[in-house]
Amino acid sequence: MSYQEEIEQSVRSIVEELPEWDADASDAIHQTAENWTIYTSHCHRIMQESSNEDAAFGHMGSDALDGCESFSDVVTRLAYFAVHQDIVDALSEWSDEDKLEARDEGLCEDCGEVCDHGLGDLQNDWKGREGEELCGDCYERWAEDQEDDEDEDDNTDEGEE
Ligand SMILES: [Zn+2]
Repeated sequence: MSYQEEIEQSVRSIVEELPEWDADASDAIHQTAENWTIYTSHCHRIMQESSNEDAAFGHMGSDALDGCESFSDVVTRLAYFAVHQDIVDALSEWSDEDKLEARDEGLCEDCGEVCDHGLGDLQNDWKGREGEELCGDCYERWAEDQEDDEDEDDNTDEGEE
């Protein structure tokens, strides 16, 4: 797998694991960049492949190497910022629709809020709304309306009221 493909895979994992599709990803990006740079050999690879080899200096200027005491410290420091920026850049290419699709979520066709596809099967039982994506709230409202309609249609006197 190429470096760029591995970055894409990291971005996909980040998108899939966020608590909400549009949640702040900065902690997850930080954690992922840390995981990428655990082994010095991986850090060397990052420095060969990254499009952001100077990212550490972009963030910290001439302080970028403060505290480094060995070549491996230096490579690890530079690689962390490089891969961090590669992930940020790759994530910025993802549209909202890409993120929703990766998470198997869609937008509710009633209110426009995010809903997940889990309701799809149930919805198929409801006449007239087959295949529509509804969020939990709108689905419940719809289901209640259906029950009300049925009560009116039956018009028996066995209601609780
Ligand atoms: Zn809705």
